[in-house]
Amino acid sequence: MLNGGRKVQDVNTIFRLLSAQHPNAGSELEFNDAFQLLVATVLSAQSTDKRVNQVTRVLFRSFSTSALLHTANAREIEKIIRPVGLHKNKARSLTEIARIIEDEYGGTVPSKMEDLLRLPGVGRKTANVVLGHGLKLHAFPVDRHVLRVCNRIGLSEHTKAHSIELELTSVLDPNSWLQMSDSLIIHGRRICKPRPHCGKCRLTLCCRYFDEQA
Ligand code: SF4
Repeated sequence: MLNGGRKVQDVNTIFRLLSAQHPNAGSELEFNDAFQLLVATVLSAQSTDKRVNQVTRVLFRSFSTSALLHTANAREIEKIIRPVGLHKNKARSLTEIARIIEDEYGGTVPSKMEDLLRLPGVGRKTANVVLGHGLKLHAFPVDRHVLRVCNRIGLSEHTKAHSIELELTSVLDPNSWLQMSDSLIIHGRRICKPRPHCGKCRLTLCCRYFDEQA
């Protein structure tokens, strides 16, 4: 039994329904490799994927690798990434990330959670995005959408991202982690928004919030 009172079978049913509703769920950030995804995900904090993609199309023309970004002029980076907000902090994080990857990891994005968490501006969600989408490893990113949808459906009572990650990864097949996370994120962005569009949702029969509103 999960913390939200759900059985393991319920989680798998919800996974199937979400996958059916969002068959093409995946990262909406544009990238060619794990380093570019790391950069894009750091830039996405308090911004939108659409805006980040507009910025990285320009940024990666000149600074597509850690070696190139490491030697970049911080002012130039700030100017390019300004539209995503927090540009001074993010520029500092990106050049430092590039330096650490060059100096300590031989230019390769590290593939361990603890190493990724050492990088400035990288939290658990960003690290999981890079592990899952960038390096094709088992990972379960939890953002505010995953939190909201899980709490509403009754998949978990936890309000901390790491607790939800631990709870759901303890019952789901590791091969389903990333797809479940991607589906929950898209569901939260498009349907189970802060004001949920329950009329468009396939989960009404297994959603606690919907039950309580009926
Ligand atoms: S039924 Fe409504 S509240 Fe429940 S998951 Fe769907 S959109 Fe969200």
